[in-house]
Amino acid sequence: MVTIDLNGKVALVTGAARGIGAATAALLAEAGATVVLGDVLADAVRTTADALTKDGRRVKAVVHDVTDEAAWETLVAETVRAFGGLDILVNNAGIEETVFLADIDAANVRKLLDVNVSGMLFGHKHAIRAMRPGGIAGRGGSIVNISSVAGLIGHAGLGVYSATKGAVRLLSKAAAVECGRLGYGIRVNSVHPGLIETPMGDKMLADYVKLGVFADDDAAAGAFLTAHPIGRTGKPADVASAVLFLASDLSSFVTGTELVCDGGLTVA
Ligand code: NAD
Repeated sequence: MVTIDLNGKVALVTGAARGIGAATAALLAEAGATVVLGDVLADAVRTTADALTKDGRRVKAVVHDVTDEAAWETLVAETVRAFGGLDILVNNAGIEETVFLADIDAANVRKLLDVNVSGMLFGHKHAIRAMRPGGIAGRGGSIVNISSVAGLIGHAGLGVYSATKGAVRLLSKAAAVECGRLGYGIRVNSVHPGLIETPMGDKMLADYVKLGVFADDDAAAGAFLTAHPIGRTGKPADVASAVLFLASDLSSFVTGTELVCDGGLTVA
């Protein structure tokens, strides 16, 4: 029997208080990894981690803002010191804004770029330094970056978000090539979810109604359902399973790829 066994691995998941990050942290921990959950939502990330601890998982909650580079350095160092390594980084934290390009606001644009792109770049810097040979963890690893179908195809109202998620797609490929060529033993891949039932997914549908793209909530939900040929929108656990594969040694020859987890949205 083939099983995915992450016993002995240490993972860090950003934006893990809720949604896709929480489901991913739960699944990695269920597979045996020790998981550090980071998020800016202090109470929520502790509550999520506490529930996993009660289920017997090895987890720790940390208040962590991905835009703060110094915090990344501390988080990676503390993780390695406390748990003896760092094998998996899931760059999941992200924010979204649904706005037409003619109406974008400079501060909001910078915020999206800061969280979705700069935050991820800082994560790469400090995880790579730790994971590469000679680093404080030093045994290679897997970095999984959560992009989106909005990093592959265009949607009205998602121009700013798409700019960040397209950046994540190519950051992942550049990082995969660099880590490969430099002999670091670090694989880097991106995951591209379709519409997933999380606070972010729900907010996006509501924002589309506010923008007048859809008449009401039912019309928005119906249009997105139709857009997914598989006949449903996604659950956080659907994305977590894709991440688990890329995080594990089952994907040991997979780097620089984009794993599309969208119920067929981008091929319809
Ligand atoms: P969510 O809003 O439900 O959860 C995102 C989490 O990230 C929250 O807990 C939030 O507090 C945290 N976060 C935000 N800014 C942060 C920061 N600066 N530092 C640390 N944590 C921060 O969203 P989700 O739907 O679970 O999305 C997770 C990822 O998946 C995001 O990168 C998102 O862009 C991507 N995604 C989501 C969907 C979807 O339909 N829900 C689709 C494609 C991609």
